[in-house]
Amino acid sequence: MEDSGSGDICRVCRSEGTVDRPLFHPCICTGSIKWIHQECLVQWMRYSHKEFCELCGHRFSFTPIYSPDMPRRLPIRDVAGGLLSSIATAVKYWLHYTIVAIAWLGIVPLTACRIYRCLFNGSVDSVLTLPLDMLSTENIGSDIFHGCFVVTCTLFAFIGLVWLREQILHGGGPDWLEPEQQGNAAGVGGNLQGGLAGGVGGAAGGDGDGGQQAAPAAGVPAQPAEGGGGVGLNAAFAAAQQQLHQHMQQLQQQQNNNLLEPINEEVVPGGEGGVDGLGGGDWNPLEWDRAAEELTWERLLGLDGSLVFLEHVFWVVSLNTLFILVFAFCPYHMGQLAVVAIGVKHLVNASHFQGLVTTLCGYCVIGICLVALHSLAALLSLVKSRRILGHCYVVVKVSLLSVVEIGVLPLVCGWWLDICSLSLFDATLKDREASFRLAPGTSMFIHWLVGMVYVYYFASFVLLLREVLRPGVLWFLRNLNDPDFSPIQEMIHLPIIRHIRRLVSSAMVFGSAVILMLWLPIRILRYMLPNFLPYVVAMQSEAQVNELSLELLLLQVILPALLEQSHTRAWLKALIRVWCVAVSYVLDIKSYLLGDTPPAGGGAAGQQPAAAVPAAPLDEPLIGGGAGGRAVDLAAAHHAMFQRGGPTGFQPYIRPRLFPLRLLCLVILVCCSLVMVSLVALTVPVFLGRKVMVHYPQVTSSGSSGPVHELYTAACGTYICWVTARAVTFVLSWLPQGRRAVTEMLYNWLLVAAKSFIATFLLIVVIPFLSGLLLELVVVMPLRVPLDQTPVLWLWQDWALGVLYTKIVCAVTMMGPEWALRHAIERVYRDGLRNMHLKFVVMELALPVISTLSIALAVPYAIAHSVIPLFISNTFVQVVVARRIYPCVLLLVVLCGLITLQIRQFAKLYEHIKNDKYLVGRRLVNYHHKSTIHQSTAN
Ligand SMILES: [Zn+2]
Ligand SMILES: [Zn+2]
Repeated sequence: MEDSGSGDICRVCRSEGTVDRPLFHPCICTGSIKWIHQECLVQWMRYSHKEFCELCGHRFSFTPIYSPDMPRRLPIRDVAGGLLSSIATAVKYWLHYTIVAIAWLGIVPLTACRIYRCLFNGSVDSVLTLPLDMLSTENIGSDIFHGCFVVTCTLFAFIGLVWLREQILHGGGPDWLEPEQQGNAAGVGGNLQGGLAGGVGGAAGGDGDGGQQAAPAAGVPAQPAEGGGGVGLNAAFAAAQQQLHQHMQQLQQQQNNNLLEPINEEVVPGGEGGVDGLGGGDWNPLEWDRAAEELTWERLLGLDGSLVFLEHVFWVVSLNTLFILVFAFCPYHMGQLAVVAIGVKHLVNASHFQGLVTTLCGYCVIGICLVALHSLAALLSLVKSRRILGHCYVVVKVSLLSVVEIGVLPLVCGWWLDICSLSLFDATLKDREASFRLAPGTSMFIHWLVGMVYVYYFASFVLLLREVLRPGVLWFLRNLNDPDFSPIQEMIHLPIIRHIRRLVSSAMVFGSAVILMLWLPIRILRYMLPNFLPYVVAMQSEAQVNELSLELLLLQVILPALLEQSHTRAWLKALIRVWCVAVSYVLDIKSYLLGDTPPAGGGAAGQQPAAAVPAAPLDEPLIGGGAGGRAVDLAAAHHAMFQRGGPTGFQPYIRPRLFPLRLLCLVILVCCSLVMVSLVALTVPVFLGRKVMVHYPQVTSSGSSGPVHELYTAACGTYICWVTARAVTFVLSWLPQGRRAVTEMLYNWLLVAAKSFIATFLLIVVIPFLSGLLLELVVVMPLRVPLDQTPVLWLWQDWALGVLYTKIVCAVTMMGPEWALRHAIERVYRDGLRNMHLKFVVMELALPVISTLSIALAVPYAIAHSVIPLFISNTFVQVVVARRIYPCVLLLVVLCGLITLQIRQFAKLYEHIKNDKYLVGRRLVNYHHKSTIHQSTAN
């Protein structure tokens, strides 16, 4: 340590160094900020949470100072004591986390499930024996599993309620509910569900409008919340209820004397809050914000080491019970009553989903009852109860409508699709019925999923149509891209009759599209090409493993292709445009179908750019070189985005003669084209795929050569079509640019192709193959092949599974800690195919991985086959060694890793104990310019 000369001052406190407070220069900075006191630096580090200089980035370092009586080696007693205390800490934490886990994963689901069962058992007996039921250990595993499901459902219901409340607060309730004094209604509506919202959330921002009004006006000093540091949920509840109570009172007051001015409204609840606030949980937004900040997930779940979470567990259990009671139990029993009363019980029972159907019926009944009660309340002019009933009705309506829109409509679509495509797979309705009886849940879910996918693609297609057609042609379909379109608001606001009408109409549209695109083409196909159908979809059971690996491959190849939609979208759009132009030319309705003004800005270029611009608005600015060009391109991109968003309004058109007749022709043409298109889509890929698959080497283990699964033929054919189309569009877009550009481009592409071929070969062929082989040798073979049999390696299958393993390992690496491999993978992803650095890929990624894998493969093999025979002549032992050496080596490696980890941990612990006992302080280390230079030159 060199003492500072006179005149040097600390960069923090601006005072000079003394003998007991010397100045240090801990970083590279020089001049007026070179010197600093250790205390000042430590204080700064504590506040800034930084361990390096902000200016030069140098990391500050300290040397420990030990007390002079420290022995050279710590006595065993100290080490043992430290070890024991750390073990005790570990055990304590383990116990705590065990309690947390038992509470959240055991008690909460178990109570939920048991209470649920007890409620739905329907007898008083079960209610009385509930406490005993809670403690029984019968079927504890399955009960917990069911309980998790129940808890998830209630959680979703809760979140949905909170969200709905937000929607009503922001968008306002429906017109018939909107009272004269908006603020109050919102307040009550908010508190109606806000009481619950404030309950668990705290973080959910449960402070409704009322809360924020109340506190400033109240002027009561903020009381510390109950329960010490953590704000208990009960406080939240009490406060929310308090708030509700206040608003009720205020509302009544308002009713009694309507003389109060709107401005006074703001004050009244505050005054009352001040009075009531003495009673306990008073409402203070500041306090609540603080609580929301403090109530982190760790705290809520009890991972921070405190036991406050037990209270949360209690509240979750009670809330759960309340929700089950209100949202499942009551509707179910009302539904049961209704079902029995109407006399359709046998129908409900035959549906295999008796509980669900009954509960839905119950919700319908509740909705009707609420409407009746609401009108009764309106008749008796009970404003308060009318409003509450109205909000309950909105909740019931929205939940029922969402169930219908999300659940029933796709389900119906899925079943309809299935029914219409029965003859495609040579199945009958009886088969479907049998499979439904066998597994009702699975069958329903699959149909729902299929319907969902269908609805999604239908909606995307309509969006695409909107981009091409004149605004206003598709007036009968909802515009999903409309910024004003909000389904939840519509559910809240529109009357139920309109919803039903809309649902029926969309079901009709979906259904007729299915008939046109599936049923009719299949009929025609069966008539024209009797031998083409049905598709083969039966699994060949004897080649199961092979099927599995093939399916994995297909999943990895097809799913990305389905997700990569931008090109397909552009082509589809161009096709639709061509079709529209042709049809409007034939029928002379261009003005009606496409509008009169040219749709895209750059009219000179015609159709091609118009189709291309909306599809790739982001690519466009990159192509433009200069600043001016960029501005123009930006404008084009904006225009494209506007186009993509879908023009919303209505555009007038010129009506030609015989307009209805022309429209009729248009509809007929649409139908015919749909049928034609689906005919082509049904036949061409499968036909091509079958042609190719004939030459496909049969790799099935048994060598059976049955018909190939149609999934493969269809996928293969689709790929052929896709590649052809891609190539054709590519050539078409490059041809007009002259020969030289084409050759140059070809050269570049060849280069990229060669590079990517090498990289692909290394990364997608070699590495997966090696890793698949290794895994097979290490894990699969010792487990599956007995010692007296000779293992056979299916190399193809190893590779296919290896692709999967490699993908998983990649994903895990990307999520894991920072190290060289992760950086390499990230960079390769970032560079993409076009700017690939082959040298980097080979040197940093492929070479290390391949060499590691090869060593792992080769060394045990060499040992087993060349070293062992030198010492052991017994063939059986040789075989055992050869077969078991891979797992043994793995075990050895893992063991070594564990031991080094333990040694490191122990060294840390040793240091820790030493510091605990003998560390008296630490001293800042000065930064020495010269010494580091000397060191570096010496090295
Ligand atoms: Zn200082
Ligand atoms: Zn510095």
